Amino acid sequence: MESKLMDPFGRIHDYLRISVTDRCNLRCVYCMPEEGMQFEPTERILSYEEITSIVKALAPLGIRKLRLTGGEPLVRKGLDQLIAMLSAIPGIEDIALTTNGIYLAAYADLLKAAGLNRVNISLDSLKPERFASITRGGKVQRVLDGIKASQQAGFHPIKLNVVLMKGVNDDEVEDFLRMTLDDRIDIRFIEYMPIGDSGDGWRSGYLPLEQVLETCGASWNYEKSCGEVYGNGPADSYRIVGAAGTFGLIHPVSSHFCGNCNRLRLTADGNIKPCLYWSDEFNVRPLVGDDKAVQDLFYKALGAKPETHDMLKALNGQQIDGTPTLRHMSQIGG
Ligand code: SAM
Ligand code: SF4
Repeated sequence: MESKLMDPFGRIHDYLRISVTDRCNLRCVYCMPEEGMQFEPTERILSYEEITSIVKALAPLGIRKLRLTGGEPLVRKGLDQLIAMLSAIPGIEDIALTTNGIYLAAYADLLKAAGLNRVNISLDSLKPERFASITRGGKVQRVLDGIKASQQAGFHPIKLNVVLMKGVNDDEVEDFLRMTLDDRIDIRFIEYMPIGDSGDGWRSGYLPLEQVLETCGASWNYEKSCGEVYGNGPADSYRIVGAAGTFGLIHPVSSHFCGNCNRLRLTADGNIKPCLYWSDEFNVRPLVGDDKAVQDLFYKALGAKPETHDMLKALNGQQIDGTPTLRHMSQIGG
């Protein structure tokens, strides 16, 4: 069945990103401030029953794919129970998780058994000290253990999200690419995005991604890969010739993929966000249990979905017509 969730620009939506918490066990420099974060009190966070009820209302409209994110989704207890509840909903075909990987070694088997289909793990450096500095205290070995446990649990391929930052980790491109040679690992290099009231600091760290191809070409032959399902992950995808895994470039800033946007977002406190960048939100929580009202609010949010974001204008210091969100990425889910 074709999704009924079409926005004013003809874009069909079949994908919902669900943030299950705004809390996190790390403090990545590009995502949230070191101190002073105000987390939502537990009673303001959607319960698993409420999330399930919302997805049940949306599945008949054509939502097929879900991604659980956060904050760090694995800091919320019993995530496997939510996955089991969601995977039992008729029409839901694919459930993915975006995680920093710190708790994955402990939970990978449980998540797989509950019905999780795919895992994206965020990993911005393979160097222990640098990883600790970017995440403000994280231990890279725990993430590497999490990757191994996920592979052993049967998640293939594993996607690794690498936010590439000028002067911070751009000297590690080759090391990341090497990880794709023998393992079914898909590395996704992501541009640094200006989300939240993070000031202008991101400009100095922003890096367009062309240099990934240059670095790759200096050591290997590579080819376009059609492995990536477009719309489920907006990456230009490549493969080093003969490699088991792939690598992709996600460049939302320099060359946005808004024309193919198929996603809606649900924040942990129950707000629908039609676009990652702008401030518009629609509070669905009071309507949970009334499927028709929930559906109508999603239609309303879709009707308000803008054609594009203005990250490139922000990068170039141009005037922006509209109000960018003040939420940090950890409060939206990426
Ligand atoms: N805690 C989980 C994690 O880190 O994977 C899930 C939530 S995190 C907000 C989701 C994704 O957003 C991560 O891959 C992270 O690297 C990315 N992200 C956060 N802030 C970003 C920024 N300013 N620019 C680009 N990506 C960002
Ligand atoms: Fe936490 Fe993920 Fe944000 Fe890092 S990127 S602070 S792990 S939510």
